[in-house]
Amino acid sequence: MTTTDLTLPAALGGAPAFPDGLPLTRVRVPDREGLLSRLGDVLDSGMLTNGPTVRALEERAAELLEVEHVVAVSNCTAGLMLVLQAAGVGGGRPVVMPGFTFSATAHAAHWAGGTPLFAEAREEDITLDPADAEARLKAADRPAALMATHVYGTPCRVEELQRIADAAGVPLVYDAAHGLGSRRRGVPIGNFGLAEVFSMSPTKVAVAGEGGLVATRDAALAATLRTARDYGNPGDYDTLFPGLNARMSELHAAVGLTWLAGLPERVAHRGALVAEFAAAVAGLPGLRLALPEEGDVSTFKDLTLILDAEAFGLSADALARALKAEGIDTRRYFHPPVQRQKSYAHLGQAEALPVTDRLAASVLTVPLWSHMDAATVRRVAEAVVRIQPHAERLG
Ligand SMILES: *Cc1c(COP(=O)(O)O)cnc(C)c1O
Repeated sequence: MTTTDLTLPAALGGAPAFPDGLPLTRVRVPDREGLLSRLGDVLDSGMLTNGPTVRALEERAAELLEVEHVVAVSNCTAGLMLVLQAAGVGGGRPVVMPGFTFSATAHAAHWAGGTPLFAEAREEDITLDPADAEARLKAADRPAALMATHVYGTPCRVEELQRIADAAGVPLVYDAAHGLGSRRRGVPIGNFGLAEVFSMSPTKVAVAGEGGLVATRDAALAATLRTARDYGNPGDYDTLFPGLNARMSELHAAVGLTWLAGLPERVAHRGALVAEFAAAVAGLPGLRLALPEEGDVSTFKDLTLILDAEAFGLSADALARALKAEGIDTRRYFHPPVQRQKSYAHLGQAEALPVTDRLAASVLTVPLWSHMDAATVRRVAEAVVRIQPHAERLG
């Protein structure tokens, strides 16, 4: 006669940590009443696009980000495409960017007419490695731009990257999809490079349903983007250049405004949850987290474990299976890295990034959302702690 052993991982017959399952993200709209009232105002106005709600969202975001200009767009990918087009990317010229990012970074460069040229990630936090980016920029034939991603909300090495971009004479554009609410040395992400583009899609920290925000200190660029998101139409239908329909609708802007309220508090809460998790797993061999530099603020769009499979005893894949048995959903952000994806096989860069390959093989993202409580995050951490000593049997 045996009873359920709570010290055993579920994969070895113990009781699962989350019998009902724990999804990776869970979206809960803050201030539902306020949102419904805003949506009612939009419907009453009879204007579902090109209206005052988008303008209000842009103004509110500009205040929060302490930046001169914010242009709302239909999504981050389209925003990146339009910024790169405005920055002169085209003609198949190389755009240096990290391999360790979401595919949309590269897709945006492709659609703008550039060719991705992938560079390595920093060991410490998996953001773009400035030294490697610099070397690849120098070796490239007429590079058109440098792109970098604030991975999981961790601010990039913005000072070094700006110096490198300036020396190479190329614009620096940030994929800031994860970074709405992050800060580098006190300065909000949104103030760096030529422009920074945020995403408000449902897996991100502030949600519009679908949506994006371009932040820039460059008034001329902001004006160009307002035209570009509207087919390139300056108002008289004599289009100036081939733009997109990349407008954000009034309905999406209403949702986005609801999420911007309380954003700093939600970011702080996520940071506190990550600290809780870090404390609970401290001391486990071969496990670390992607953390921002001391003094920086990350949104922790994702809570990602970086595993040294040998020291931890399990690969990221094997840990994912053990956590699945506990009811805990995980993802491999970002695996495969973009230079390995089928989309870019024709570029012949699949083998070019050994550090990125190793890091991408070692990452595992566990659930974190803005209204999660500390007990839940501790329970996830405890599951990892319970699994590790049994690594050999599980592996
Ligand atoms: C989500 C994401 C995007 C795409 O954002 P959309 O708003 O869905 O276009 C781009 N880059 C990164 C790093 C992302 O995570």
